[in-house]
Amino acid sequence: MARSYVREARRRVGPKSDRIVPVVERLLAEHPDATIALTFRNDLELLVSVMLSAQTTDVNVNRVTKDLFVKYRRPEDYLAVPVEELERDIYATGFYRQKTRSIRGAMRVLLEEFDGEVPRGLDELLRLPGVARKTANVVASELGHAQGIVVDTHVRRLSQRLGLTRNEDPVKIERDLQRVVPRADWARFPHLLIWHGRRVCVARRPHCESCVLVDLCPAARIDVMPG
Ligand code: SF4
Repeated sequence: MARSYVREARRRVGPKSDRIVPVVERLLAEHPDATIALTFRNDLELLVSVMLSAQTTDVNVNRVTKDLFVKYRRPEDYLAVPVEELERDIYATGFYRQKTRSIRGAMRVLLEEFDGEVPRGLDELLRLPGVARKTANVVASELGHAQGIVVDTHVRRLSQRLGLTRNEDPVKIERDLQRVVPRADWARFPHLLIWHGRRVCVARRPHCESCVLVDLCPAARIDVMPG
């Protein structure tokens, strides 16, 4: 019964390859302000902000980096202070020991291998200690070199609801999205899903009644379906 309902819902909305362009267009119209929520002024601040954002909110990171980026302006600055001092300065973002280790390691490699500049390619970013695929994807996308699609909890939930993936594993979800989302939209697509996920398609009870994707979404609540 449940399975036939899912099949029926998928038939109703049609194949994802036909839906993806209108999905992107409608989300763009709905959330023109959907961009990264971290505050940064240059590539280095972007990298550090994204590294600090693991396991905490962007608001929290912005609060900490407001002072941090006054004190630490170049990669050398993160290595010039005692470890405990940097730990204290980023303490409020949580996991401060591990983050301090990662940031200092990344700064060292930036200086040794990249002339102190943040590289733009995914492969180079992944050579920085403590920079995992998600961090590298976010940084590369913001620098205009999206080579993947960032998958966080909102992206996973909405991709599943919209029938763009049936997977749970972020790496497999990213692969599914790369197959269907036009390459030109790789950088902004996660932001659109994240903002839609925060405002409309919330985790517990999505607001399908006010969702612009209702006729394109196989998970739309039946009680709000038009017609
Ligand atoms: S129709 Fe409902 S489930 Fe589908 S994307 Fe919109 S809010 Fe989410």
